[in-house]
Amino acid sequence: MDKVRVGVLGSTGSVGQRYVNMLRDHPWFELTALSASASSVGKRYRDASKWVLDTGMPEWAADMTVIAADPKEFKKAGVELVFSALPSEVAKAVESEMVDAGFAVVADTSAHRMDPDVPIVIPEVNSQHLDAIEGQRKRGKRGLIVTGPNCTTSGLAMSLKPVQISYGLKTVLVSTMQALSGAGFFGVPSMAIVDNLVPYIKNEEEKVQQEVLKILGDYEGGFKQARIRVGASCQRVCVLDGHTEAVFMVTEKAASPEEVARCMEKFEGEPQRLRLPSAPMPPIIVRKEPDRPQPRLDRMAGSPERARGMATVVGRIRREEALENGIKYVLLSHNTIRGAAGNAILIAELLKAKDMI
Ligand code: NAP
Repeated sequence: MDKVRVGVLGSTGSVGQRYVNMLRDHPWFELTALSASASSVGKRYRDASKWVLDTGMPEWAADMTVIAADPKEFKKAGVELVFSALPSEVAKAVESEMVDAGFAVVADTSAHRMDPDVPIVIPEVNSQHLDAIEGQRKRGKRGLIVTGPNCTTSGLAMSLKPVQISYGLKTVLVSTMQALSGAGFFGVPSMAIVDNLVPYIKNEEEKVQQEVLKILGDYEGGFKQARIRVGASCQRVCVLDGHTEAVFMVTEKAASPEEVARCMEKFEGEPQRLRLPSAPMPPIIVRKEPDRPQPRLDRMAGSPERARGMATVVGRIRREEALENGIKYVLLSHNTIRGAAGNAILIAELLKAKDMI
Protein backbone atom coordinates (compact mmCIF):
# COMPACT_ATOMS: atom_id res chain seq x y z
CA MET A 1 0.00 0.00 0.00
CA ASP A 2 1.33 3.47 -0.90
CA LYS A 3 1.69 5.62 2.20
CA VAL A 4 -0.42 8.80 2.47
CA ARG A 5 1.84 11.83 2.79
CA VAL A 6 0.89 13.98 5.76
CA GLY A 7 1.94 17.33 7.22
CA VAL A 8 1.54 18.90 10.67
CA LEU A 9 0.55 22.52 11.36
CA GLY A 10 1.88 23.64 14.76
CA SER A 11 4.43 20.82 14.79
CA THR A 12 6.71 22.33 17.44
CA GLY A 13 4.04 22.66 20.18
CA SER A 14 2.71 20.42 22.90
CA VAL A 15 0.40 18.51 20.51
CA GLY A 16 2.68 18.90 17.47
CA GLN A 17 5.46 16.95 19.17
CA ARG A 18 3.03 14.12 19.88
CA TYR A 19 2.27 13.90 16.15
CA VAL A 20 5.94 13.69 15.27
CA ASN A 21 6.38 10.99 17.88
CA MET A 22 3.30 8.96 16.96
CA LEU A 23 3.90 9.16 13.21
CA ARG A 24 7.33 7.52 13.45
CA ASP A 25 7.26 4.28 11.40
CA HIS A 26 3.54 4.63 10.82
CA PRO A 27 2.43 1.82 8.50
CA TRP A 28 0.03 4.02 6.47
CA PHE A 29 1.35 7.60 6.78
CA GLU A 30 4.59 9.34 5.93
CA LEU A 31 5.29 12.72 7.55
CA THR A 32 6.69 15.03 4.84
CA ALA A 33 5.93 18.55 6.17
CA LEU A 34 6.52 20.16 9.54
CA SER A 35 5.18 23.67 9.95
CA ALA A 36 5.20 26.28 12.73
CA SER A 37 5.06 30.07 13.21
CA ALA A 38 7.08 32.63 11.24
CA SER A 39 9.76 32.63 13.96
CA SER A 40 10.46 28.92 13.32
CA VAL A 41 10.17 28.86 9.51
CA GLY A 42 13.48 28.00 7.79
CA LYS A 43 15.01 26.46 10.94
CA ARG A 44 15.75 22.78 11.29
CA TYR A 45 13.12 21.05 13.44
CA ARG A 46 15.76 20.21 16.08
CA ASP A 47 16.45 23.94 16.53
CA ALA A 48 12.85 25.16 16.27
CA SER A 49 11.34 22.66 18.70
CA LYS A 50 12.01 22.47 22.45
CA TRP A 51 11.44 18.70 22.58
CA VAL A 52 9.81 17.63 25.86
CA LEU A 53 8.89 13.99 25.25
CA ASP A 54 10.91 11.28 26.97
CA THR A 55 11.14 9.22 23.76
CA GLY A 56 13.75 11.41 22.06
CA MET A 57 13.26 13.35 18.83
CA PRO A 58 13.26 11.08 15.74
CA GLU A 59 16.43 11.71 13.66
CA TRP A 60 14.54 12.11 10.36
CA ALA A 61 12.35 14.84 11.91
CA ALA A 62 15.29 16.62 13.57
CA ASP A 63 16.85 17.33 10.16
CA MET A 64 13.66 18.50 8.43
CA THR A 65 13.28 22.21 7.69
CA VAL A 66 10.23 23.88 9.22
CA ILE A 67 7.93 25.37 6.56
CA ALA A 68 5.24 28.06 6.62
CA ALA A 69 1.57 27.28 7.28
CA ASP A 70 0.87 27.88 3.61
CA PRO A 71 -1.00 25.52 1.25
CA LYS A 72 1.58 26.13 -1.49
CA GLU A 73 4.40 24.94 0.77
CA PHE A 74 2.38 21.85 1.73
CA LYS A 75 1.73 21.07 -1.96
CA LYS A 76 5.46 21.33 -2.66
CA ALA A 77 6.06 18.78 0.10
CA GLY A 78 3.57 16.42 -1.61
CA VAL A 79 1.17 16.48 1.36
CA GLU A 80 -2.30 14.93 0.95
CA LEU A 81 -3.60 15.12 4.53
CA VAL A 82 -2.96 17.94 7.03
CA PHE A 83 -3.08 17.57 10.81
CA SER A 84 -3.74 20.89 12.54
CA ALA A 85 -2.41 21.69 16.02
CA LEU A 86 -2.47 25.46 15.62
CA PRO A 87 -3.52 27.95 18.29
CA SER A 88 -7.26 28.52 17.82
CA GLU A 89 -6.79 32.22 16.92
CA VAL A 90 -4.88 31.33 13.75
CA ALA A 91 -6.51 27.97 13.02
CA LYS A 92 -9.76 29.21 11.50
CA ALA A 93 -8.19 30.99 8.53
CA VAL A 94 -5.33 28.53 7.91
CA GLU A 95 -7.52 25.39 8.11
CA SER A 96 -10.07 26.99 5.72
CA GLU A 97 -7.29 27.84 3.24
CA MET A 98 -6.05 24.23 3.41
CA VAL A 99 -9.55 22.86 2.72
CA ASP A 100 -10.03 25.36 -0.14
CA ALA A 101 -6.72 24.17 -1.60
CA GLY A 102 -8.09 20.59 -1.69
CA PHE A 103 -6.42 19.04 1.38
CA ALA A 104 -8.08 16.67 3.81
CA VAL A 105 -7.71 18.40 7.19
CA VAL A 106 -7.97 16.68 10.58
CA ALA A 107 -7.96 19.38 13.27
CA ASP A 108 -7.39 19.33 17.02
CA THR A 109 -8.41 22.95 17.28
CA SER A 110 -11.79 24.34 18.28
CA ALA A 111 -11.97 26.69 15.25
CA HIS A 112 -14.41 24.63 13.13
CA ARG A 113 -15.81 22.15 15.69
CA MET A 114 -19.25 23.72 15.93
CA ASP A 115 -19.63 24.48 12.18
CA PRO A 116 -22.91 22.95 10.93
CA ASP A 117 -21.28 20.58 8.40
CA VAL A 118 -18.13 19.68 10.39
CA PRO A 119 -18.12 16.56 12.57
CA ILE A 120 -16.31 16.21 15.90
CA VAL A 121 -15.17 12.59 15.76
CA ILE A 122 -14.03 10.08 18.34
CA PRO A 123 -13.73 7.07 16.02
CA GLU A 124 -15.08 4.52 18.53
CA VAL A 125 -18.01 6.73 19.50
CA ASN A 126 -19.44 8.40 16.39
CA SER A 127 -17.68 7.26 13.23
CA GLN A 128 -21.06 7.60 11.46
CA HIS A 129 -20.68 11.40 11.76
CA LEU A 130 -18.13 11.15 8.92
CA ASP A 131 -21.25 11.15 6.70
CA ALA A 132 -21.17 14.93 7.18
CA ILE A 133 -18.27 15.01 4.71
CA GLU A 134 -20.82 14.29 1.97
CA GLY A 135 -22.55 17.53 3.04
CA GLN A 136 -19.24 19.41 2.79
CA ARG A 137 -18.76 18.06 -0.74
CA LYS A 138 -22.31 19.07 -1.74
CA ARG A 139 -21.59 22.59 -0.51
CA GLY A 140 -18.64 22.72 -2.89
CA LYS A 141 -15.68 22.22 -0.53
CA ARG A 142 -12.63 21.07 -2.51
CA GLY A 143 -11.03 19.28 0.42
CA LEU A 144 -12.62 18.05 3.62
CA ILE A 145 -12.36 18.79 7.32
CA VAL A 146 -12.94 16.60 10.37
CA THR A 147 -12.22 17.76 13.92
CA GLY A 148 -11.36 15.92 17.12
CA PRO A 149 -12.87 17.03 20.42
CA ASN A 150 -11.40 19.15 23.16
CA CYS A 151 -9.02 17.07 25.29
CA THR A 152 -11.48 17.04 28.20
CA THR A 153 -14.44 15.94 26.10
CA SER A 154 -12.52 13.03 24.66
CA GLY A 155 -12.37 10.62 27.62
CA LEU A 156 -15.73 11.81 28.91
CA ALA A 157 -17.65 11.06 25.68
CA MET A 158 -15.80 7.74 25.31
CA SER A 159 -16.88 6.57 28.78
CA LEU A 160 -20.45 7.84 28.36
CA LYS A 161 -21.16 6.17 25.01
CA PRO A 162 -21.59 2.57 26.23
CA VAL A 163 -23.79 3.76 29.10
CA GLN A 164 -25.87 5.84 26.69
CA ILE A 165 -26.35 2.77 24.46
CA SER A 166 -27.23 0.34 27.29
CA TYR A 167 -29.09 2.46 29.86
CA GLY A 168 -29.73 5.93 28.39
CA LEU A 169 -28.43 9.14 29.95
CA LYS A 170 -30.44 11.94 31.53
CA THR A 171 -27.85 14.08 33.30
CA VAL A 172 -24.04 14.18 33.36
CA LEU A 173 -21.97 16.36 35.70
CA VAL A 174 -18.20 16.41 35.54
CA SER A 175 -15.47 18.03 37.62
CA THR A 176 -12.05 17.96 35.95
CA MET A 177 -8.42 18.00 37.11
CA GLN A 178 -6.54 18.92 33.95
CA ALA A 179 -2.86 18.56 33.13
CA LEU A 180 -0.46 21.38 32.33
CA SER A 181 0.33 20.18 28.80
CA GLY A 182 -3.33 20.87 27.97
CA ALA A 183 -2.55 24.58 28.11
CA GLY A 184 0.16 24.33 25.45
CA PHE A 185 3.90 24.67 25.65
CA PHE A 186 3.97 28.12 27.28
CA GLY A 187 0.53 27.80 28.83
CA VAL A 188 0.78 27.97 32.63
CA PRO A 189 3.68 29.73 34.43
CA SER A 190 5.29 27.52 37.09
CA MET A 191 4.76 30.28 39.70
CA ALA A 192 1.00 29.97 39.12
CA ILE A 193 0.73 26.21 39.49
CA VAL A 194 3.40 24.72 41.78
CA ASP A 195 1.82 24.11 45.21
CA ASN A 196 -1.47 25.24 43.70
CA LEU A 197 -4.41 24.61 41.38
CA VAL A 198 -6.31 27.02 39.17
CA PRO A 199 -10.10 26.69 39.28
CA TYR A 200 -10.68 28.29 35.89
CA ILE A 201 -9.84 27.35 32.28
CA LYS A 202 -11.13 29.86 29.75
CA ASN A 203 -14.04 28.56 27.59
CA GLU A 204 -13.40 24.96 28.70
CA GLU A 205 -16.69 24.29 30.45
CA GLU A 206 -18.73 25.64 27.53
CA LYS A 207 -16.71 23.51 25.06
CA VAL A 208 -17.22 20.31 27.05
CA GLN A 209 -20.96 20.89 27.37
CA GLN A 210 -21.53 21.69 23.68
CA GLU A 211 -19.19 19.05 22.26
CA VAL A 212 -20.56 16.14 24.30
CA LEU A 213 -24.06 16.89 23.01
CA LYS A 214 -22.88 17.07 19.38
CA ILE A 215 -20.78 13.87 19.62
CA LEU A 216 -23.45 11.81 21.40
CA GLY A 217 -26.20 13.12 19.12
CA ASP A 218 -27.33 11.83 15.71
CA TYR A 219 -26.36 12.88 12.22
CA GLU A 220 -29.12 12.69 9.62
CA GLY A 221 -28.17 15.26 7.00
CA GLY A 222 -27.58 17.65 9.93
CA PHE A 223 -26.44 17.31 13.53
CA LYS A 224 -29.07 16.72 16.21
CA GLN A 225 -27.91 17.26 19.77
CA ALA A 226 -28.28 14.44 22.29
CA ARG A 227 -31.02 15.14 24.86
CA ILE A 228 -28.81 15.01 27.94
CA ARG A 229 -28.25 17.72 30.57
CA VAL A 230 -24.48 18.26 30.85
CA GLY A 231 -22.64 20.45 33.36
CA ALA A 232 -18.89 20.86 33.86
CA SER A 233 -16.47 22.47 36.32
CA CYS A 234 -12.86 22.59 35.08
CA GLN A 235 -9.67 22.90 37.14
CA ARG A 236 -5.98 23.03 36.15
CA VAL A 237 -3.72 20.96 38.42
CA CYS A 238 0.01 20.37 38.76
CA VAL A 239 0.20 17.21 36.61
CA LEU A 240 2.21 17.12 33.36
CA ASP A 241 0.00 14.90 31.17
CA GLY A 242 -3.37 13.21 31.61
CA HIS A 243 -6.74 14.73 32.48
CA THR A 244 -8.58 13.18 35.44
CA GLU A 245 -12.35 13.68 35.61
CA ALA A 246 -14.86 12.90 38.37
CA VAL A 247 -18.17 12.07 36.65
CA PHE A 248 -21.69 11.91 38.16
CA MET A 249 -24.52 10.68 35.99
CA VAL A 250 -28.21 9.87 36.06
CA THR A 251 -29.20 7.01 33.78
CA GLU A 252 -32.66 6.53 32.26
CA LYS A 253 -32.86 2.84 33.18
CA ALA A 254 -31.50 1.76 36.55
CA ALA A 255 -28.02 0.20 36.37
CA SER A 256 -25.77 -1.22 39.04
CA PRO A 257 -22.06 -0.23 39.19
CA GLU A 258 -21.21 -3.77 38.03
CA GLU A 259 -23.49 -3.43 34.99
CA VAL A 260 -21.96 -0.06 34.11
CA ALA A 261 -18.47 -1.54 34.43
CA ARG A 262 -19.43 -4.49 32.22
CA CYS A 263 -20.89 -2.34 29.43
CA MET A 264 -17.77 -0.13 29.44
CA GLU A 265 -15.42 -3.13 29.34
CA LYS A 266 -17.31 -4.77 26.47
CA PHE A 267 -17.46 -1.57 24.42
CA GLU A 268 -15.68 -1.39 21.10
CA GLY A 269 -16.14 0.65 17.95
CA GLU A 270 -15.26 0.70 14.28
CA PRO A 271 -11.48 1.15 14.89
CA GLN A 272 -11.39 -2.12 16.85
CA ARG A 273 -13.53 -3.99 14.30
CA LEU A 274 -11.34 -2.69 11.45
CA ARG A 275 -8.16 -3.33 13.48
CA LEU A 276 -6.81 0.15 12.70
CA PRO A 277 -3.11 0.51 13.57
CA SER A 278 -3.63 3.01 16.43
CA ALA A 279 -6.83 1.48 17.84
CA PRO A 280 -6.54 0.59 21.54
CA MET A 281 -7.76 -2.91 22.39
CA PRO A 282 -9.94 -2.39 24.39
CA PRO A 283 -10.73 1.37 24.20
CA ILE A 284 -11.94 1.53 27.83
CA ILE A 285 -10.02 -0.13 30.65
CA VAL A 286 -11.93 -0.52 33.92
CA ARG A 287 -9.69 -0.68 37.03
CA LYS A 288 -11.00 -2.40 40.13
CA GLU A 289 -8.50 -1.01 42.69
CA PRO A 290 -9.95 1.68 44.97
CA ASP A 291 -7.20 4.21 44.18
CA ARG A 292 -7.02 4.08 40.37
CA PRO A 293 -6.84 5.64 37.80
CA GLN A 294 -3.89 7.92 38.57
CA PRO A 295 -2.24 10.13 35.92
CA ARG A 296 1.36 9.00 36.52
CA LEU A 297 0.44 5.30 36.53
CA ASP A 298 -2.34 5.09 33.95
CA ARG A 299 -1.99 7.84 31.32
CA MET A 300 -0.02 5.66 28.88
CA ALA A 301 -2.56 2.81 29.04
CA GLY A 302 -3.44 1.18 25.74
CA SER A 303 -2.21 -1.69 23.67
CA PRO A 304 -0.81 -2.58 21.16
CA GLU A 305 2.37 -0.47 21.39
CA ARG A 306 1.14 2.09 18.79
CA ALA A 307 -1.99 2.68 20.91
CA ARG A 308 -0.17 3.59 24.13
CA GLY A 309 -2.01 6.52 25.73
CA MET A 310 -5.11 5.89 23.60
CA ALA A 311 -7.22 3.99 26.16
CA THR A 312 -9.62 5.73 28.54
CA VAL A 313 -9.08 4.38 32.04
CA VAL A 314 -12.12 4.28 34.33
CA GLY A 315 -12.23 3.40 38.02
CA ARG A 316 -14.18 3.84 41.26
CA ILE A 317 -17.54 3.10 39.60
CA ARG A 318 -20.11 3.27 42.39
CA ARG A 319 -23.66 4.31 43.17
CA GLU A 320 -24.39 7.98 43.83
CA GLU A 321 -27.01 7.65 46.55
CA ALA A 322 -27.86 11.38 46.42
CA LEU A 323 -29.36 10.90 42.92
CA GLU A 324 -32.08 8.57 41.67
CA ASN A 325 -30.41 6.15 39.21
CA GLY A 326 -27.14 7.88 40.12
CA ILE A 327 -23.71 6.48 39.26
CA LYS A 328 -20.32 8.11 39.78
CA TYR A 329 -16.81 7.22 38.60
CA VAL A 330 -13.38 8.66 37.87
CA LEU A 331 -11.75 8.60 34.43
CA LEU A 332 -8.33 9.39 33.05
CA SER A 333 -7.49 10.23 29.45
CA HIS A 334 -4.16 11.35 27.98
CA ASN A 335 -4.83 14.87 26.77
CA THR A 336 -2.20 15.27 24.03
CA ILE A 337 -2.57 11.65 22.81
CA ARG A 338 -6.24 10.59 23.10
CA GLY A 339 -7.34 14.19 23.48
CA ALA A 340 -5.46 15.42 20.42
CA ALA A 341 -2.77 13.85 18.17
CA GLY A 342 -3.61 10.17 18.74
CA ASN A 343 -7.34 10.68 18.19
CA ALA A 344 -6.63 12.66 15.01
CA ILE A 345 -4.32 9.93 13.68
CA LEU A 346 -7.06 7.38 14.41
CA ILE A 347 -9.53 9.57 12.47
CA ALA A 348 -7.09 9.67 9.55
CA GLU A 349 -6.71 5.87 9.69
CA LEU A 350 -10.50 5.54 9.60
CA LEU A 351 -10.71 7.90 6.60
CA LYS A 352 -8.08 5.80 4.83
CA ALA A 353 -9.77 2.49 5.72
CA LYS A 354 -13.06 3.85 4.33
CA ASP A 355 -11.37 5.13 1.12
CA MET A 356 -12.32 8.71 2.00
CA ILE A 357 -8.78 9.99 1.42
P1 NAP B 1 1.27 25.12 21.66
O1 NAP B 1 2.10 24.20 22.47
O2 NAP B 1 1.19 26.55 22.06
O3 NAP B 1 1.82 25.04 20.13
C1 NAP B 1 1.36 25.94 19.12
C2 NAP B 1 2.01 25.58 17.78
O4 NAP B 1 1.47 26.46 16.77
C3 NAP B 1 3.53 25.78 17.73
O5 NAP B 1 4.07 24.85 16.81
C4 NAP B 1 3.68 27.19 17.15
O6 NAP B 1 4.91 27.38 16.46
C5 NAP B 1 2.54 27.18 16.14
N1 NAP B 1 2.07 28.55 15.82
C6 NAP B 1 1.82 29.56 16.70
N2 NAP B 1 1.38 30.67 16.03
C7 NAP B 1 1.37 30.34 14.71
C8 NAP B 1 1.04 31.06 13.52
N3 NAP B 1 0.62 32.35 13.54
N4 NAP B 1 1.15 30.41 12.33
C9 NAP B 1 1.60 29.12 12.27
N5 NAP B 1 1.93 28.40 13.37
C10 NAP B 1 1.82 29.00 14.57
O7 NAP B 1 -0.24 24.60 21.56
P2 NAP B 1 -0.82 23.10 21.78
O8 NAP B 1 -1.12 22.83 23.20
O9 NAP B 1 0.03 22.16 21.03
O10 NAP B 1 -2.26 23.22 21.11
C11 NAP B 1 -2.44 23.32 19.71
C12 NAP B 1 -3.92 23.29 19.40
O11 NAP B 1 -4.46 22.04 19.80
C13 NAP B 1 -4.72 24.37 20.13
O12 NAP B 1 -5.74 24.84 19.28
C14 NAP B 1 -5.32 23.62 21.31
O13 NAP B 1 -6.51 24.20 21.77
C15 NAP B 1 -5.56 22.25 20.69
N6 NAP B 1 -5.57 21.14 21.65
C16 NAP B 1 -4.60 21.04 22.58
C17 NAP B 1 -4.62 19.95 23.44
C18 NAP B 1 -3.57 19.78 24.51
O14 NAP B 1 -3.74 18.87 25.37
N7 NAP B 1 -2.51 20.56 24.52
C19 NAP B 1 -5.60 18.98 23.34
C20 NAP B 1 -6.58 19.11 22.35
C21 NAP B 1 -6.55 20.20 21.52
P3 NAP B 1 6.21 28.10 17.15
O15 NAP B 1 6.91 27.05 17.95
O16 NAP B 1 7.00 28.55 15.97
O17 NAP B 1 5.67 29.21 17.99
